[in-house]
Amino acid sequence: MVLSPRVEINLEKIRHNARTLRDLYGRKGIEITGVVKGVAADFKVANTLIESGIASLADSKITNIEKLKKANLKASLLLLRSPAMSEVEKVVTYADISVNTELDVIRALSEEAIRQKKKHKIIIMVEMGDLREGILLKDVPHLLREVLKYPGIEIAGIGTNFACFAGVMPTEQKMREFSHFVTNIQKTFSLDLSYISGGNSANHNWLINTKNVGAVNNIRLGESIFLGRETADNDIIPSLYQDAFYFIAEVIESKIKPSVPFGNVGRNAFGESVSFENRGNMRRAIVGAGRQDVLVSGLVPVQPFEIIGSSSDHIIIDTKNTALKPGDEVRFSLNYGAMLSSMTSPYVYKTYINSLSKIRQKEFHKKQFLFNKPVQKSSYLSS
Ligand SMILES: *Cc1c(COP(=O)(O)O)cnc(C)c1O
Repeated sequence: MVLSPRVEINLEKIRHNARTLRDLYGRKGIEITGVVKGVAADFKVANTLIESGIASLADSKITNIEKLKKANLKASLLLLRSPAMSEVEKVVTYADISVNTELDVIRALSEEAIRQKKKHKIIIMVEMGDLREGILLKDVPHLLREVLKYPGIEIAGIGTNFACFAGVMPTEQKMREFSHFVTNIQKTFSLDLSYISGGNSANHNWLINTKNVGAVNNIRLGESIFLGRETADNDIIPSLYQDAFYFIAEVIESKIKPSVPFGNVGRNAFGESVSFENRGNMRRAIVGAGRQDVLVSGLVPVQPFEIIGSSSDHIIIDTKNTALKPGDEVRFSLNYGAMLSSMTSPYVYKTYINSLSKIRQKEFHKKQFLFNKPVQKSSYLSS
């Protein structure tokens, strides 16, 4: 029997998604950086991206960059989150490029690079309104004047990020503003920038609709490669698979029980007060996975079941008319949070599929249909 709980990863679907996106973006002159933080920088997934023609990979954790570097992959490695002071030595050792916003850190990177007889490349992140990482545009010239004096640093690019913290969208106007800014800065400082990195999976609709990508030549994609979705409206990208990942857990109890708890009711193990509608007796199954393993709110059962609740190691499911028995498996589709949590959990096995079998393709169409129904979509979103 195959072990559970597990994530089932279909490398062929990831390959299809990666190639399709690479071609789509490529036609507009944009290269893709594959963001592997959502899959804990899984080797097989990283290799699949490289085989699909993606030449740069990014992760937010230096430990993952170190792991990828030591594996000698044929890709340049970008540290996607600004380095902490305490990480500077590792960053210079393992990352080919890092994103940065702090002069003190860049100076420390320069000193470390000199010590290691290297040049460390950086992408300077600028703020376009989402208010996570980024230098205000008015402060960029001052920072550049300083950084240009650092002998250990090569300015490889300018980047920006959207829709990660405040939900600020990469609209046509924002993107034009960014391009305009970068073009001017490049002229003023005679910079030769390899990376003008305009955003993430939230940029998909902009890319499809824009007549002019401006100066942008790079986009950093995670979710749209792995889950086939753009993240501005959380819509599916029709030519891609949404089901390259499944979470699978095994039934450990299945009984007909009341739908409403009996006894004096207080708070549960997570300090939450929960209430239940009386639906009489129901088929309740428990699967052997819980909040330690996966973001349960990001799971949607593939069969017409309903997740009633969860604790650290149990997910309780209303299986409606289906009688499950111990040992049966329940299959769930995942949103990004559920994918990330299950991929990083040491308790969850990772298994791989290398084919697009006929049955699975049928499943894919059926599921697309389900996802298109508004009810299904809102429950998918409730993470
Ligand atoms: C996570 C991340 C990305 C990738 O985002 P997706 O929505 O998965 O495409 C891109 N850029 C930065 C800075 C990130 O932190």
